[in-house]
Amino acid sequence: MRLKDKVALITGGARGIGQAIAMAFAKEGADIAVADVNLETAQKTASEIELLGRKALALEMDVTNYEKVEEGVNKILDKMGKVDILINNAGITKDNLLLRMSQSDWDAVINVNLKGTFNCIKAVSRPMVKQRSGRIISIASIIGLMGNPGQANYAASKAGIIALTKTVAKELASRNINANAIAPGFIQTEMTAKLPEDIKKRMLEAIPLAKLGSPGDVANLCVFLASDESSYITGQTITIDGGMVMA
Ligand code: NDP
Repeated sequence: MRLKDKVALITGGARGIGQAIAMAFAKEGADIAVADVNLETAQKTASEIELLGRKALALEMDVTNYEKVEEGVNKILDKMGKVDILINNAGITKDNLLLRMSQSDWDAVINVNLKGTFNCIKAVSRPMVKQRSGRIISIASIIGLMGNPGQANYAASKAGIIALTKTVAKELASRNINANAIAPGFIQTEMTAKLPEDIKKRMLEAIPLAKLGSPGDVANLCVFLASDESSYITGQTITIDGGMVMA
């Protein structure tokens, strides 16, 4: 029960890594706001959380829309009383080589992954500053550390999240708010399932532990970063990638 009675907002929490984080947090005693563009899947995850005996709130929230994000945070404050933890997990890919990448594919990925993260941090920072505590965890990617052909938009968005995290950590440290990023490698979800087989094979060969990660692996790290056990860690980017990137 490392997160007993904490309230967590998890974006993109309806499925994939976000859903695994939501379930892991609930098992550790947290109440969860599941925010997703897809209300129906968010409601499904919320029902699963309630089965674990915790409170859950399904929110229809497109993270690119600041008004919607603020509205969602106000709803959480109204129904759950506070927001202790923000997990910026909503993310998309629209891959193409630089020469073929359209303006709209660039904008869409930067908007969801980077601006969405900024929007959510901005919206929760006021209540967190007021309550003099908070944990902000943003899901970046090893692609934001090393780049990847065909992912200029995604790599830039994830590198942006890392720089944003360092800035937020410095700005909010005096208010007892920790901000960290997680850089997963190759995790088994729908996002990676749609990659071509030859790319998957090449990725696997580059992983020293020779296996993909699971959403649960990322969720375990989030639990640690949201718990009191990590209270002296802020501004960091922690890779979880089977050893693909070693600093
Ligand atoms: P999924 O595509 O499986 O899930 C992403 C979730 O985010 C979906 O529920 C999706 O909703 C939701 N979402 C998409 N756009 C928005 C939006 N504008 N506002 C709110 N929610 C939105 O992705 P993963 O679980 O694989 O990835 C989660 C995070 O982890 C992402 O940030 C990703 O970049 C990152 N990551 C993933 C890795 C991997 O190997 N899988 C590796 C490194 C990082 P809908 O279902 O309606 O589309």
